[in-house]
Amino acid sequence: MKKLAVGVLGATGMVGQRFIQGLEDHPYFDLVCLAASERSAGKKYREAAKWHIEGGIPESVADQRVDLLDPGLVEEYDLDLVFSSIPASVAKDVEASFASRVPTFSNTRTYRMEDDVPLIVADVNPDHLSLVEKQRERGWDGFVVTNPNCSTIGLVVPLKPLLDVFGIDWVNVTTLQGLSGAGYNGVPSMAVIDNIIPYIGGEEEKMESESLKILGSLGDKVDCSDIQVTASCNRVPVLDGHTEAVSVGLSRDFEVEEVVNAFKDYENEPQRLGLPSAPCPAILVHEEPDRPQPRRDRLAGCGMAVSCGRIMRKAERLLRFYALSHNTIRGAAGASILNAELAYKKGFLG
Ligand code: NAP
Repeated sequence: MKKLAVGVLGATGMVGQRFIQGLEDHPYFDLVCLAASERSAGKKYREAAKWHIEGGIPESVADQRVDLLDPGLVEEYDLDLVFSSIPASVAKDVEASFASRVPTFSNTRTYRMEDDVPLIVADVNPDHLSLVEKQRERGWDGFVVTNPNCSTIGLVVPLKPLLDVFGIDWVNVTTLQGLSGAGYNGVPSMAVIDNIIPYIGGEEEKMESESLKILGSLGDKVDCSDIQVTASCNRVPVLDGHTEAVSVGLSRDFEVEEVVNAFKDYENEPQRLGLPSAPCPAILVHEEPDRPQPRRDRLAGCGMAVSCGRIMRKAERLLRFYALSHNTIRGAAGASILNAELAYKKGFLG
């Protein structure tokens, strides 16, 4: 089977490094192009990237040249698709230029809420992928598929089985978010060591709106869910991993055992199709009273599982649990790769 040629836009960044890790020896995709800003262009990857994740830089890319981000790279490398992890400030025109040529799987917020753009978590709303057909009206040869903000992904994965089994009236979530979520230059050490910052610009709004689109139903466009979601977001001195304390008003009363089983049994198309990046199980349930923890649990399922614990019935129909997910894998690059695998298996990639 011939692999599809792929490029990573923003290949030197926190998410870009996870793309490189996740695409190494991938059965469907062959990473042939690394693009970044003027700062990195022309350098070897090992010189341009401040590699900071476990394991060294894969040999396959270490000496590869980083190119200046330019849509002409599609023709130069004969790319079949691209993954994007560039800042939102530059994404609007850049991603449109790439999407007019090839399928573009984006981590950036720019196109997430547009009516004809799927906002996908592959193991939550895989059916929304067909929205890409609507983008033909833009006159593009490709399309944009987005994945949500990292903290939203860790929330909607456990919400989906709860919605299916019990129904949900409201959700209140408090996050404890790792530093890599802000990018390499994101939060100065002097601001965050020995501290918690109870503000992440735009994060609460993104969690509150994106989760409703993901949990919405697909018609001509997505009809957003009417669940009431409120979020309080905090930056904490943890390197990788977002922990979330979640309270949920379920539509009917429940036993804790039923919730545990709903989480343990949960699967969706990525698991059924056997997609290479699909976590099995999608949700890992911890019985210990002090789990999940970022340092111990963030790499569960190669960083793709959502770990849940401290599942409690606090009152009639009131559920409380903790969820933990790896923000740059499950919450970003891994989620994007899983979306592309889904698109590949479902015949959307040519
Ligand atoms: P980052 O570590 O700051 O990396 C940014 C990347 O974009 C670098 O490769 C950088 O290249 C490149 N870049 C910056 N300005 C550019 C320009 N003008 N033209 C071309 N390339 C440019 O950021 P990140 O954390 O990886 O985040 C990237 C995107 O993913 C953001 O939109 C972010 O909101 C989103 N996201 C991040 C996470 C997370 O957990 N970090 C999760 C979900 C979504 P140089 O190295 O050459 O400067």
